[in-house]
Amino acid sequence: MTDLRMWAMRPATFQSPGQIELYGRDAAPRMPTPTYLIEHPDGLVLFDAGLNPDHAGDPIGGYGAMAEKLNMDFREEHTIEAHLGELGFGLDDVKVVIASHLHFDHAGALKQFPHATTFIGEGELEYARAPEKFCTGWFHRDEFDDRHGIQWQVLPCDHDVFGDGTVTVLHLPGHTPGSLGALVRLPKNTYILTGDAIHTRAGYASELHYHGDHDTVTARRTLRKIAHLERVTDAGVWICHDPDDWQKYGGAGEKQ
Ligand SMILES: [Zn+2]
Repeated sequence: MTDLRMWAMRPATFQSPGQIELYGRDAAPRMPTPTYLIEHPDGLVLFDAGLNPDHAGDPIGGYGAMAEKLNMDFREEHTIEAHLGELGFGLDDVKVVIASHLHFDHAGALKQFPHATTFIGEGELEYARAPEKFCTGWFHRDEFDDRHGIQWQVLPCDHDVFGDGTVTVLHLPGHTPGSLGALVRLPKNTYILTGDAIHTRAGYASELHYHGDHDTVTARRTLRKIAHLERVTDAGVWICHDPDDWQKYGGAGEKQ
């Protein structure tokens, strides 16, 4: 097995407005905006790109009322560039980006990687450029438009990035048309990074889709695909926005 390492990058966090209402701002759990870095001998892979670095330090100035509603905590130290620097890397060292989908809390820094290959699921770009009304606010088109020169590589199915089985992009549609995840086989552990294909442990256990999913039937089929992969690979399923999963699997900034 190739020597691989993975870091869960130190994330910005937010709170769900429903939970703020129930528990108050002090007690409501803080959910991470997930980004992972995988070091492979053939290059660095970034899974998801979090929030837009232009808004670090002033999320309300950048995102407006939504940042206030979500009580966002997004500082310079939460940016991918800052964390890469601490690990001894620069933005240019990232060779491959896996964009789980184009919602603003996953796609904000994609524009910083025009030199890399960016994997995107089939149908995602088209949908993100003309989304349905209920989710227009979740796509910030200026963050992934053509002027950034992002080198998209569209995937219609699963894809073994390096041909050695260590990092496989998973086709997980339903949350959005082109949602992707990743199966990462590290020397000691295997993980399934779910992107937003799953939002909560309870939803996963009871095979329930999330209210914001684009196609609920497809989303439930995807949950069954993840459960099957979990069984056959003995992987840990890392539900990207779930604070308990971050606690369980090592937490922000920890090496896997
Ligand atoms: Zn999403």
